[in-house]
Amino acid sequence: MNANIPDIFACNVFNDEVMKTRLPKNIYKTLRKTIDGGEPLDMTTADFVANTIKEWAVEKGATHYTHWFQPMTGSTAEKHDSFIAPTANGMAIMEFSGKSLVKGEPDASSFPSGGLRRTSSARGYTAWDPTSYCFVKEGSLYIPTVFVSYTGEALDKKTPLLRSMEALSRTSVRFLKLFGNENVTRVTSTVGAEQEYFLIDKKMYDRREDLILTGRTLFGANPPKGQELDDQYFANLKPRIAAFMSDLDEELWKLGIFSKTKHNEVAPAQHEMAPVFTTSNLGADQNELAMEVMEKVALRHGLVCLLHEKPFEGVNGSGKHNNWSMSTDDGQNLLDPGDTPMENLQFLTILCALIKGVDEYADLMRLSAASAGNDHRLGADEAPPAIISMFLGEELDAVLKAIEEDTVYKTQNETFVIGVNALPSFPKDSTDRNRTSPFAFTGNRFEFRMVGSSDNIACPNVLLNTIVAEELSQFTEILEPLKGSDNFESEVKKLLKSVLKDHRRIIFNGDGYSPEWVKEAERRGLPNYASTVDCMPHYTDEKNLRILRKFGIYNQSELTARKEIHLEKYSKTISIEARTMIEMARKQLLPAVLEYVEKLCRSIAVKKQVGVTSATEEKIAAKLGALSDRFYESIERLEDLVNKAVNIKNVLEQARFFRRNVLAEMDIMRSIADETELNIPSAQWPIPSYSEIIYNV
Ligand code: ADP
Ligand code: MG
Repeated sequence: MNANIPDIFACNVFNDEVMKTRLPKNIYKTLRKTIDGGEPLDMTTADFVANTIKEWAVEKGATHYTHWFQPMTGSTAEKHDSFIAPTANGMAIMEFSGKSLVKGEPDASSFPSGGLRRTSSARGYTAWDPTSYCFVKEGSLYIPTVFVSYTGEALDKKTPLLRSMEALSRTSVRFLKLFGNENVTRVTSTVGAEQEYFLIDKKMYDRREDLILTGRTLFGANPPKGQELDDQYFANLKPRIAAFMSDLDEELWKLGIFSKTKHNEVAPAQHEMAPVFTTSNLGADQNELAMEVMEKVALRHGLVCLLHEKPFEGVNGSGKHNNWSMSTDDGQNLLDPGDTPMENLQFLTILCALIKGVDEYADLMRLSAASAGNDHRLGADEAPPAIISMFLGEELDAVLKAIEEDTVYKTQNETFVIGVNALPSFPKDSTDRNRTSPFAFTGNRFEFRMVGSSDNIACPNVLLNTIVAEELSQFTEILEPLKGSDNFESEVKKLLKSVLKDHRRIIFNGDGYSPEWVKEAERRGLPNYASTVDCMPHYTDEKNLRILRKFGIYNQSELTARKEIHLEKYSKTISIEARTMIEMARKQLLPAVLEYVEKLCRSIAVKKQVGVTSATEEKIAAKLGALSDRFYESIERLEDLVNKAVNIKNVLEQARFFRRNVLAEMDIMRSIADETELNIPSAQWPIPSYSEIIYNV
């Protein structure tokens, strides 16, 4: 990279710095009030801001603008309009009004709405979200927007996220006053999303219809070497990968995304990028953008970036660790325990609110990470189990124990000793890491490790914010009347003690990947929803609907719509996968086997004529012949099942059928194909093998 990083950083973003230099002071102030305080923007200011943004964008090479939004499809959406406007004398000028900045009107009817469309109309609106900065990319000005229906129902992922952030801020500000924080006026949830991905050669990708159509390999025998040597994690970067990563960093930095960490991950061909954390809203937008940039930069290097949760069977899939915390406008990280957590009553109360919340709403947390793709990962020895639990680490555990037992815990201040005098000693961290926990405390934040790699992080953060808002407001109701009284501290401790008594079961510091934990969790009464179809129906459970409604995150129809959209998407995903399998099986794999068997048979016949033994050919031909018979039967069965499935009207029943019947037959078909692949010459097998794909870069 030639560029000086501070020079290029955020050079394509209309951020605070640019606003300050380009806008007159009074306009800047008014806009800032909108950004920070949510005050509505008057049209005169909007016009002025729009014109300034346009001038800036045109200087950056933009000819178009687009309202950029996150519909329920799972990807982002954009429609580009040029700034161009005709003049009276038949010439063109570049024009951009406040109205076009603030509001757009895309036809909502072609986006998933989960039935909201039937009750309202097709009309949808995009509205500028000034809390996320505009940016220029590929000749267009991108304006981050929310997407709502004519009647104001959320049709996207950003609207509920913004609603949940406001709910969390409101309740936290009130809660914090109990602990003497009179000056805090805003609390923001923060997120840093570690993004895992695979990189494979484009030439291999182009020869795999399954990767092209579904993002994952539906066939493929395990290679002789997988990840068993642990030789990929943090390994040195191959030149092509290093070049990709360096390019990626530069592109992300230009867009103001603080790409900070890059490394090889556990599976062959797997890597990770982690940005510096930011507010949830910006973090979610930037993660969507980062995924898009990854895919585009990969293509420039003749690579394809796979963001699917499980592109390859037998090696680890990809997740997205959602690091979450809350910070105040006076600079406190509310999940920072400080040096002596036992004395930090505010922190302990928030921690207990989280413990109570995660226990009571474990189903919501679970379903926030549910998708057809992620179902292949959760609970499969590589990712957290489908059971929600929390890891706190030794020190916090001891502190909570002390609260329960009315004793005092003294911080140990241990020094870490390596046993080599020349090396500096350093204070020991108070928490170890637990890679097997779905919800782990990591020193000053929680890491929610279940989220799938391709998922929008909005949903987990919406639910997390709402759950914490609910618990903090419950605590506030109880504690507010006691504020300022002498026994405030002892009353708080009493509250925490009773919370811990009821909700300690959610804390688990052991190995979450072990089969014993599944039994233990069952004994504790923790829910274990193995798949999307098991957890998704709980979205609309009375208790969940209650809090989501209470904080204005979703009304009943919005929530029901979301549940339906997720289930429909689940069914559609598996339907596409099954059809892709059938097509590949019929058009590529089966003909290849039959052709090879025919070759063998011809050889057997010729050898017989001249009296040469053909025992080997006979054995292979018999084996492959039998496999292809079974394969063909499986194709027919799968076809029947898919046809049955698509005719099921009830969304949940349909999803269940796809899981129970269609996926099961897909597994059977795959195992036959994989066995066939192992028994046929490479040159005869029509699609690249796992070895060719994951060891090729
Ligand atoms: P590891 O893989 O060791 O867990 P990484 O450095 O890869 O750690 O990622 C940690 C992530 O946590 C980064 O994105 C970082 O910005 C984020 N993070 C750190 N502090 C906070 C916080 N207060 N709120 C949200 N995210 C945070
Ligand atoms: Mg990491």
